[in-house]
Amino acid sequence: MSGPENATGMHVPEKVRIFDTTLRDGEQSPGIALSAEDKVDIALALDGYGVDCIEAGFAISSEVDRMALRRLSCMGLHADVYSLARCRREDIDAVESCGVRCIHLFIGTSDSHIRDKLGMTREQVIGAIRDSVSYSREKGMDIMFSCEDATRTDYGFLRQAYAAAVESGASVINVPDTVGITTPRRMSELIGKLSADIGAPISVHCHNDLGLAVANTLAAVESGASYVHTCMTGIGERSGNASTEEVALNLKLNYGVDTVKLELTDRVSKTVVRYTGYRPSYTKPVIGRNAFAHESGIHVHGILKNSSTYEPYPPEMVGRVRDITIGRHSGEHSVREKLDRMGVPFPEERMPALMAEIKRQSGDRTISDIELAAIAENILWKDKTEDIVRLTEFAVITGKNVTPTATVTVDIGGEQNTCAMTGNGPVDAAINAIRKAVSDDIVFEELRLESITGGSDSLCEVTVLVKDVHDDDHISAGKAVGRDIVDTTVDAFMQAINRDYARRGRR
Ligand code: MN
Repeated sequence: MSGPENATGMHVPEKVRIFDTTLRDGEQSPGIALSAEDKVDIALALDGYGVDCIEAGFAISSEVDRMALRRLSCMGLHADVYSLARCRREDIDAVESCGVRCIHLFIGTSDSHIRDKLGMTREQVIGAIRDSVSYSREKGMDIMFSCEDATRTDYGFLRQAYAAAVESGASVINVPDTVGITTPRRMSELIGKLSADIGAPISVHCHNDLGLAVANTLAAVESGASYVHTCMTGIGERSGNASTEEVALNLKLNYGVDTVKLELTDRVSKTVVRYTGYRPSYTKPVIGRNAFAHESGIHVHGILKNSSTYEPYPPEMVGRVRDITIGRHSGEHSVREKLDRMGVPFPEERMPALMAEIKRQSGDRTISDIELAAIAENILWKDKTEDIVRLTEFAVITGKNVTPTATVTVDIGGEQNTCAMTGNGPVDAAINAIRKAVSDDIVFEELRLESITGGSDSLCEVTVLVKDVHDDDHISAGKAVGRDIVDTTVDAFMQAINRDYARRGRR
């Protein structure tokens, strides 16, 4: 029955069970090799998340899987622990030896699988299904049975194979779209036919080769599938499987079906990412870095007034926080929100100056929190300084086999002064030219340069100390934040000079 929050109007099963195969299909992703301990840790996270079934390995395939299965089978998990097995007695014995009582049996049923992979006839395949399902049943196992490559199997034979499995004791039939080739409509039709023809609960296993794994999974649920095979973060062979978090969130938001504890999504996905080393892409739904990142000013304004304007669901629902990125599309509202959150006091009347500075500094990149704080602080600092000496023109020429030369024009109380000087580098040339244009009494004492966040495109913070050798050797400091080392050093130097001039004026 469909619940009251079912936005689709489709009738879906009231209970949909999450059969998580992160530790089996997910682990088959190239480059992922989990130890038995890793598997146990991930299984515990998945169990806490609330998945119904955990396929923890393929018992016959490796000792690591057997160790993990053995340990998990006696840990009293809430979830049922499954092992994969081919329709062979030795595979089933291996599962039994691990103390696992839930088995996922599979055999290829498409013509290419039967002929090219198994080298069997259809009759032999049916025989193997009957034998292995009955054998597992005799051992008291709970059996999920899969026709591998089901979506490319002739329907008549598919129905025959599933019927044989159910007659022999399988409790759930699983329908794998092994190579991720089907579409939602075709999946929906297939599940509809099977649910009419076979009297057993139906499960689906969808791959993402064409980007339709989640869509196909949901289409199957709309046609009555009550188990879904998924992998946390969408890992799995080739382009991966339907992702556990996307399917679970869809079931909740679009169908009103509760499955896992969604608020643990962020934590569980991070556990899987840490062990597997598979980082999700920035744009990955639910868990990707940008899922709750807002940069455009209009969007941020809307989000801050009412988060539903540009968010389908609140980030807290999946255990995350909203991230508002400050960049070239950012507006005053997001900047104000960030400053308030970081506890940086900033006067409202200076916001236009701050916005202009952010636009000037960000260029084609985004500004991090710490850079924003530095820019804001820089503006407040500048406000405290009187502009007695202003730099009205500045150019520097530098390169290989060129003598660095700077030309400046300064305005000191309405009087223009233009000078050109060379130096050991562009910064030195600029400092020399400014000193010549302003006053020889001001000595450049020290330069401190720091990249604020690291990386060659980071903002830099320059602190300049100047000494007034005219009389008392007083030191004045200037600090500036910017993208270019030369420009920023010049800004910091001008600020130090102005502080010295202001000091002289007060004397
Ligand atoms: Mn698979």
